Amino acid sequence: MDFELSPDLIELRDRVAAFVRDEVIPAEKNGARDIQTLRDKARKAGIYGPQLPREFGGLGLGTVAMCVVFEEAGRSLLGPLALHCAAPDEGNMHLLSLYATPEQRERYLRPLAEGKIRSCFAMTEPAPGAGSDPTMLLTKATRVDGGWEISGRKWFATGADGSAFAIAMVVTDPSVPTHKGATMFLVPTNAPGFKLIRSVATMGGHDGPGGHGEIEFDHLRVPDSAILGKLGEGFKMSQVRLTPARLTHCMRWMGVARRSIEIAMAYAKFSG
Ligand SMILES: Cc1cc2nc3c(=O)[nH]c(=O)nc-3n(C[C@H](O)[C@H](O)[C@H](O)COP(=O)(O)OP(=O)(O)OC[C@H]3O[C@@H](n4cnc5c(N)ncnc54)[C@H](O)[C@@H]3O)c2cc1C
Repeated sequence: MDFELSPDLIELRDRVAAFVRDEVIPAEKNGARDIQTLRDKARKAGIYGPQLPREFGGLGLGTVAMCVVFEEAGRSLLGPLALHCAAPDEGNMHLLSLYATPEQRERYLRPLAEGKIRSCFAMTEPAPGAGSDPTMLLTKATRVDGGWEISGRKWFATGADGSAFAIAMVVTDPSVPTHKGATMFLVPTNAPGFKLIRSVATMGGHDGPGGHGEIEFDHLRVPDSAILGKLGEGFKMSQVRLTPARLTHCMRWMGVARRSIEIAMAYAKFSG
């Protein structure tokens, strides 16, 4: 594989680095309050949505270029939010761009890509449900007239508080092994039966909007059109969702790690 950076990519990387240095880092003192202003500036600088398809206002970068940009954006915890490439929206937009129907794209992906709404991804469950081993999934959807009824509990859904919808991973066919009988649903957070119980405390848990929510689906009804992708394909899709998302997490963290070392070195030199 060729990891040589093209002149265009070096120019883009440097533009993102300058934006983070000149616009994002000075805004850190205000926390996430200035995000919309920063996003407008990122649009003007031509660096908004590096991973987003061009039809949704992004740069449509491939994986290598995306990694380079994400590392620069990650130098500030606000950088990925400013460029609209922060978790969980970044991974959710990726999934939606691959699997959403035209109607789902307009209802969910477009406003998400434009930064008008936020989303969350609800797979992990309190014990004895799904965690490291997602085949322990307990949340179920059962067939009802005109759709499905979802019941179960999730937690650690990053960004849940204030999100417009959740992508929920749910068992739809308990008669087959879980990895063949799970499905993803698009669940509006204002649907009756969607209950945000609390934000779960985590180390570094204040690094983005919406916390890490514990959610109850209490006999929540959705139509068939709420299925994302195909019935029973939830596991395959979760690989498509989560595999690149581990890489993009790491690239953002590489950026913040580099900056942390620089701050520590400057402090050590100053104190010495
Ligand atoms: C900041 C943060 C954000 C998150 N965001 C999301 C999100 O947006 N959406 C979402 O769905 N989830 C999210 N998660 C949840 C995350 O995916 C889970 O924490 C992870 O999958 C591990 O599951 P668990 O916490 O239930 O741990 P467990 O599965 O209970 O594991 C606990 C420990 O036991 C070990 N262990 C487990 N099984 C075995 C085994 N068979 N053999 C040996 N050791 C084992 C694990 O390695 C771990 O050390 C988030 C978590 C954090 C901390």
